[in-house]
Amino acid sequence: MDRVIVVGGGLAGVRAVESLRGHGYEGGLTVISAEEHPPYDRPPLSKAVLKGETDFPALDTDLAALNADVLQGTRSTGLRLHPESGGTLVTTAGELRFDGLVIATGATPVRLPGDGPQHVIRTLDDALEVRARLVPDARVVIIGAGWIGAEVATTAAKAGCAVTVVEAADAPLAHALGPELGALTAPWYAEAGVDLRTGLKVASVEPDGLALAGGERLPADLVITGVGVRPEVAWLDGSGLDVELGVLTDASFRASADGAVRNDVVAVGDCAAWWSNRYGRRLLVEHWDTALNAPETAARSLLGQDAEYDVAPYFWSEQFDRFVQYAGHHAGAERMVRRGAPEDGAWAVAWLTGDRLDAILTVDRPRDLVQAKRIIAAGTPVDAALLADPAVPVRGS
Ligand code: FAD
Repeated sequence: MDRVIVVGGGLAGVRAVESLRGHGYEGGLTVISAEEHPPYDRPPLSKAVLKGETDFPALDTDLAALNADVLQGTRSTGLRLHPESGGTLVTTAGELRFDGLVIATGATPVRLPGDGPQHVIRTLDDALEVRARLVPDARVVIIGAGWIGAEVATTAAKAGCAVTVVEAADAPLAHALGPELGALTAPWYAEAGVDLRTGLKVASVEPDGLALAGGERLPADLVITGVGVRPEVAWLDGSGLDVELGVLTDASFRASADGAVRNDVVAVGDCAAWWSNRYGRRLLVEHWDTALNAPETAARSLLGQDAEYDVAPYFWSEQFDRFVQYAGHHAGAERMVRRGAPEDGAWAVAWLTGDRLDAILTVDRPRDLVQAKRIIAAGTPVDAALLADPAVPVRGS
């Protein structure tokens, strides 16, 4: 293999370049990056960038020193796979042949119907544009009380805006955590002076605000949509690669075409729906930790080395002056154990199956998170009664 192309200059793409070089690949390496900016980090977009603490959260990397050519402002628009191996990438800068391909094109925010101005926060330019509009007394309406919606609401309220969050479910974070747990975060909105309106469906975004499904209008100076993302994979249509919601891969991030594994194509980061042997199901994890760590496995498997990704997913969110963290995967867990009460300020919830710890959610208890992550990784049994006692450190039994 002496001509590898990485499509996508986000965290997963950059980490793929670093890992390929780190694992001994010395051939040609080209990064196709649709954005005009050098690689940057996305989590600060809804945090430090929106607060005005930084204008450019650069990723700490030096692609030139790694001897990678970066075609910035270039988009890949199609892919032709050669039958045995290798292929041709179609890009806005012309066609490029490869014998190894890393697909790391991330995800794109879902937008709602309507002709009115609708902002999202996915790119640096998105974040800078929204920041400029967070002025005192601006009527800001955020659609979606998910992770991003809550972070944006936090900053907008601190900037003196009149903030309303409209959520279709009956509680914030209902989709991610379930309504019962999500409801525990609802008081955070009120404390911050944010008007949280749950159970409301948006019909369309209009020039002067929102039209709600029941006919009500909600006036706004600024509408920000935070209702989730979709893997950026439409450019692969017609390529023959197996794509459902994301690019389907095995546990080594190898893609397939018509069900046959391709040793020369890997997909990783927000665009990949990878098989997890740990959970016995496909995961599509749109979080930073996976984009940071999984590319090493993807790079190794592209180089023909044995590698499997068996890490429990992890993410964090900073909202309403709280540090919220989650590790593991709780779908299918048998029961939930509460650890401390929300009234105490810092609390956690663990999910168990038998004496196995499946997942943990912590609010301002970062130590619990670190300890639980190790237990989840090792599969060490836990004692549910001890886990329920916030005074006892999280530990295996
Ligand atoms: P991306 O970072 O999206 O990079 C993909 C790149 O590919 C983009 O630059 C895109 O322009 C480019 N691209 C797309 N299509 C093409 C094409 N056809 N040709 C060429 N280039 C293309 N995660 C957490 O765990 N905690 C957080 O607190 C957190 N906060 C976040 C806040 C915000 C505002 C956002 C947007 C995300 C946040 N995340 C967070 C998620 C995390 O940032 C992502 O999981 C991570 O950035 C995914 O990296 P990626 O490289 O897979 O995709």
